[in-house]
Amino acid sequence: MRLKGLKILVTGGASGIGRALVEAFIADGCFLGVFEKDAKSCDMLNNEYGDTVRAWPCDVSCPDQVDRTFGSAKDAGFRPDVLINNAGIIHSEPLVNIGKKTERIHSRENWKKVLAADLDSVFYVTSCVVDDMIQRRCQGLVISISSIAAHGNIGQSAYSAAKAGVNSLTFTWAKELGPLGMRFVAIAPGFLDTPSTRAALSENTLARIQQQIPLRKLGSTSAIYLAAKAIIESDYINGTVIEVDGGLSL
Ligand code: NAD
Repeated sequence: MRLKGLKILVTGGASGIGRALVEAFIADGCFLGVFEKDAKSCDMLNNEYGDTVRAWPCDVSCPDQVDRTFGSAKDAGFRPDVLINNAGIIHSEPLVNIGKKTERIHSRENWKKVLAADLDSVFYVTSCVVDDMIQRRCQGLVISISSIAAHGNIGQSAYSAAKAGVNSLTFTWAKELGPLGMRFVAIAPGFLDTPSTRAALSENTLARIQQQIPLRKLGSTSAIYLAAKAIIESDYINGTVIEVDGGLSL
């Protein structure tokens, strides 16, 4: 695919990786659509970038909102060639909190919240977008932002399970829809230097993790953009998870 003029839909495009992708693909001459739950950030994106970005407030973990918002996007003439499923929440919680007397087990509410935000959302948005691509005979691409936590990460039952699910959907859809010329690829970041990482992990924990990364540094959001750009431009990458983690999962 040639980048210039592509229509790319990014979920969770207001901050972190999503925001970096939006800004970089605008610079490449693409048109961006954003589904983002933070309405104020949507206003800001719409005001800041004029005709190149159209952001719609949407909680992608809610199927009705996804259907409605995708309808609005289509009515506005935004029918994406590329979908980037990026929206998600990072959540850490042990299966059993051994040190506590009460409320020892992993909150079921949190389990549902994380699975809804990180896995259900990918299913809801992708099914709408792919149906539209098929109807237009568009040989589109879906990139989903997974995580190396999909291998299993201590203290992240819900998050790891959700991201493993994202990888599995990527493999399934690549097999199911590859014959129509559509591609499905996941990018699994390791630890990036983003506000969400710094909010989730203490300085000490981050310093310890950094020592375990063969490259001895946290990743940047631009590394994720470069991986996404390569996937878009190379039409033979399909049905795989590209780990962008400085070698941490080796
Ligand atoms: P972030 O919190 O900075 O940005 C996430 C964006 O998604 C925010 O704008 C948020 O408002 C939006 N969002 C969250 N839930 C949403 C929902 N239900 N509907 C619509 N919008 C929603 O996070 P980030 O670090 O940029 O992470 C982006 C993705 O990358 C996530 O899927 C995360 O799991 C994954 N990831 C991040 C890292 C990292 O180191 N930052 C590592 C591995 C994977």
